[in-house]
Amino acid sequence: MIIVMKSSCTDTEIENVLKRLEEFHLKGHLSRGVERTVIGVVGEVAKQPEVAQMLERLEGVEDIIPIGKPYKLSSREFQPYETTVRVGDVTIGNGELVIMAGPCAVESETQTLDSARAVKAAGATIFRGGAFKPSTSPYSFRGLGEDGLKILAAARAETGLPIITEVLSPRDVETVARYSDILQVGTRNMQNFALLDEVGQVNKPVMLKRGMSATIQEWLLSAEYILSQGNRQLMLCERGIRTFETYTRNTMDISAIPVIHKVSHLPIIADPSHGTGKWYLVTPLALAAVAAGADGLIIEVHPTPDYALKDGAQSLTFDNFGRLMAQVHALALALGHKVASSEGQVTKK
Ligand code: PEP
Ligand code: MN
Repeated sequence: MIIVMKSSCTDTEIENVLKRLEEFHLKGHLSRGVERTVIGVVGEVAKQPEVAQMLERLEGVEDIIPIGKPYKLSSREFQPYETTVRVGDVTIGNGELVIMAGPCAVESETQTLDSARAVKAAGATIFRGGAFKPSTSPYSFRGLGEDGLKILAAARAETGLPIITEVLSPRDVETVARYSDILQVGTRNMQNFALLDEVGQVNKPVMLKRGMSATIQEWLLSAEYILSQGNRQLMLCERGIRTFETYTRNTMDISAIPVIHKVSHLPIIADPSHGTGKWYLVTPLALAAVAAGADGLIIEVHPTPDYALKDGAQSLTFDNFGRLMAQVHALALALGHKVASSEGQVTKK
């Protein structure tokens, strides 16, 4: 249920609505837009018709809109305007196409710093790298942990690029949040509800990747965990889903991008590296994602992909990443989008 407040409503009237909701053990989430203020109501409201009747009578209330969808705070009904996520000087979701790039895993200081310098020179504005790596096998490389986070912080200190890195466990959230600028929740953890609750309580932006076998609705319900804990600095990431196809590692669901824009206000980033698993498919799918309206790309880049400890097959060399950037710029121009001059950032609208 959404409560639309009158444009003339006062703070006291809003507080009164929130207080009355509490009496029914319901939580009201406030969203103040330029044009209207709404309160999203979370709880078993459908079973309590008397709540709607009570609310309609309150001062300052204009309308009560039931929402049929199970996800509320991530829905367009709750927030018609786009969420923008601020990370340092970079804004995600405001029409600028944001490029995040870097190695799958932090392997060493040299490999990480070389990558950070190269992706910055090519126009990326956020640096990626995993210090805590999810791994299908416990015997493969699982990341450098906090030492890896320190290397990422050194890369930020040198290049000025904000850092995005994955957090695997609720107990590491505080540590990862201390070093990084965006917390990534990976595909395997999309339904790790304890982790979602925890990242919902930190004061850092979060990127929630789609579970490899998750429907869009399940993905948005996971987003709901984070939003309902109070963290609204959230973006989604389409990284490919499992299908019967075996040629590619995953099937990149390009259609998820316009679907998310239709049903949600959250920014959507595309990850064609994990979406395809093959380096020569990364650029074509990156272009498709840009054409479909992605708010950003996250791309795996490695100084020597043949020697990468993780995801070498899908990692771009510095040269290939430079070519990808050139093509992304060309596409943006062809679509009539502005290309910003500073460090190659591309404007979408
Ligand atoms: C990654 O970004 O390196 C990663 C492990 O991603 P995903 O969770 O999408 O597999
Ligand atoms: Mn990877």
